[in-house]
Amino acid sequence: EALANQIAAGEVVERPASVIKELVENSIDAGASQVDIRVVDAGLRLMEVADNGAGIEPDDVPNAFKRHATSKIATTRDLFAIHSLGFRGEALASIAAVADVTIETATSAGVGTSAHLTGGAIVDAHQQAFRQGTTIAVHNLFYNTPARLKYVKSQATELSHITDIVNRLALGHPNVAITLRSADKLLLRTAGNGDLQQTIAGIYGVETAKGMLAFAGEDLDFKVSGYVSLPDTTRSTRTHMTLLLNGRYFKNFNLAKAVIAGYGSKLMVGRYPLAVVNIEIDPQLVDVNVHPTKQELRISKEAALSQLIEQTIYARMADQNL
Ligand code: ADP
Ligand code: MG
Repeated sequence: EALANQIAAGEVVERPASVIKELVENSIDAGASQVDIRVVDAGLRLMEVADNGAGIEPDDVPNAFKRHATSKIATTRDLFAIHSLGFRGEALASIAAVADVTIETATSAGVGTSAHLTGGAIVDAHQQAFRQGTTIAVHNLFYNTPARLKYVKSQATELSHITDIVNRLALGHPNVAITLRSADKLLLRTAGNGDLQQTIAGIYGVETAKGMLAFAGEDLDFKVSGYVSLPDTTRSTRTHMTLLLNGRYFKNFNLAKAVIAGYGSKLMVGRYPLAVVNIEIDPQLVDVNVHPTKQELRISKEAALSQLIEQTIYARMADQNL
């Protein structure tokens, strides 16, 4: 079991940002409205995620760290149907296999549980007073897998991966207030009031957010909405595009191209848009092929969706006489 967990960890935990992603997704799945993230040394020394979600019952704490012990539903179809981000039940087990982990959790304010795991095994667990929610601290990632540690890039690179994934999670969940700190430096704070434009402001700055154009459109299968940078203020030399399918961040080259096509010939050569595109689909009606750990997604009727995105953005800019 310990070995199996280490092997699974190789798939799930590629770098510090993978840990952050799994922990924050768990917080969101637990219904948290506030998630506070702190990293030290780009997460290699410490990653801590504190939430005010549902918490875990004392008896369930050991289960949470067992592989395939998920409290969530198990197919990708259900995954998109219920908006639950985690579904494999192996993230915590994998993380605990390659780091020391401390968890503090309570399902209501009062008595909760504190547990410490090393080498994937619980070495100490006791009751303690705690607020409602969960704090998980991950210490010394990859300390027992030197081969993995070798693949970790510079701290600057790892921290930029962390910032990137937290940005995407925040954009997909404007109703969750998220903070990210590196040591004690605040890198990100989102409002958590459900307003996407304010969330964009928390990430890219107030001025940038104000200068973006809202768009919305739909056809029989899809609803698309979001914000795009105005062509003349688009400063970026590489694309900052966040595609979200029912709140889940994904990558798709053709849809990214459709966003750019929506600008017609208005973008200056060498400039790329800043865009946040929400796509809503009825998961029952659409086939979604998804690899558990990869962020690429294929959607049936992708060509129609591409057209919808391009035309919606194009029409919105024409509206504004851009
Ligand atoms: P999955 O998310 O795929 O179910 P994980 O290994 O990520 O698997 O988590 C295992 C279980 O631990 C979850 O199903 C959930 O019941 C519980 N859990 C993990 N993190 C939290 C959290 N922050 N708040 C409440 N419960 C949590
Ligand atoms: Mg999970």
